[in-house]
Amino acid sequence: MTANEQWCLIERPEAAVGDRHFEVRNTAIPVPGDNEVLVRNLYLLIAPSMRLWMNERETYFPPQPLGEVMTGITLGVVESSNVPELQPGDYVNGLGGCQKWFVANPDSLQKVQVAADMPLELYRTVIDVQGLTAWCGLTEVGKPQKGETLVVTAAAGSVGSLVCQIGKKIGLNVVGIAGGPDKCEWLRQECGIENVIDYKADDLAAKLDEMAPSGVDLAFENVGGPVMDLIIDRLNFKGRVILCGLVSSYNGAGGTQSTESLMRVVNKAARIEGFLVSEYMHRYADVATLVEGGIRDGWLKYRVDVIDGLDNFVDALGKVFRGENKGIQLIRIAPEETGNEYGHSRGAC
Ligand code: NAP
Repeated sequence: MTANEQWCLIERPEAAVGDRHFEVRNTAIPVPGDNEVLVRNLYLLIAPSMRLWMNERETYFPPQPLGEVMTGITLGVVESSNVPELQPGDYVNGLGGCQKWFVANPDSLQKVQVAADMPLELYRTVIDVQGLTAWCGLTEVGKPQKGETLVVTAAAGSVGSLVCQIGKKIGLNVVGIAGGPDKCEWLRQECGIENVIDYKADDLAAKLDEMAPSGVDLAFENVGGPVMDLIIDRLNFKGRVILCGLVSSYNGAGGTQSTESLMRVVNKAARIEGFLVSEYMHRYADVATLVEGGIRDGWLKYRVDVIDGLDNFVDALGKVFRGENKGIQLIRIAPEETGNEYGHSRGAC
């Protein structure tokens, strides 16, 4: 066993995250006490919201305490256990933090049941919070009707790409907005989304008018700022904006929303509704089954962008804000065990 490596936040960033905001500590691997398990982290999800957790201002989490291990959404494997319900070899999801090892009470962990034909990393990505966010945000918050026009921002991203494809499956006219030719081509070719706008190269307003000629009934907003203004400007009567996130503002330099555009929400009796995926945990299992089914049936595509090594944490988070992530950004903290084609054992699940 190697020592534990822990990434601790020591300074709150005001803009983009850099190495100086963290201290890397090498500590002893913790020992589980009564009613605890020792978990070896395998995957760390690099979510844009991690940047918000670093601020002093509370989010849906309390602010990340300075000097402590950075909060992180992880998938790991139980290495030793003092509880009957979890055994060595079991895979668990949890808030295991930006570190290699942690001990936890089983109540704070979720045992992962890995299907034999699915890569393990999907259980901390598509068949997990991203799938749940996309599915419940679109269907439960947006309440889409067949034939409506849906515009999705960060459309090639983790949540956005799933929203586009679920929207298409429901029978919506989907318009995806993404940055750069690679992402746009992937949405068109792989995900079958015909109406895609490259906001970095195209005339966004003109393309929106062309691809949503009857206006926008529904928007799934991940970005905010001027792009959101252009979408709101085109909202139809009783249009809905599903506010999932405002990633353009997380590094502290985001554009503000135009009051002129927001007046359209009033004039069109439209609605902007924020939501949190944590409100939909009661749907976790059934949405996971739907997403697994979509992948098996071939209509739901995904891209996972895996970087090896926790020492790439700052760069991985930066990639998400530079739009360089090609799909869901994950760090592989440690290799999976050998045992099947995906390289991890399934015997314990
Ligand atoms: P992601 O879309 O995989 O990655 C973020 C993408 O946002 C980047 O690839 C980039 O795409 C775009 N972006 C980043 N900075 C930007 C900027 N300054 N201006 C314009 N675009 C920018 O990330 P994700 O995990 O799926 O998250 C997407 C959104 O969902 C975020 O706002 C996140 O906070 C939110 N979220 C909310 C919930 C919830 O419960 N409400 C749950 C999960 C995620 P381009 O290259 O295309 O610009």
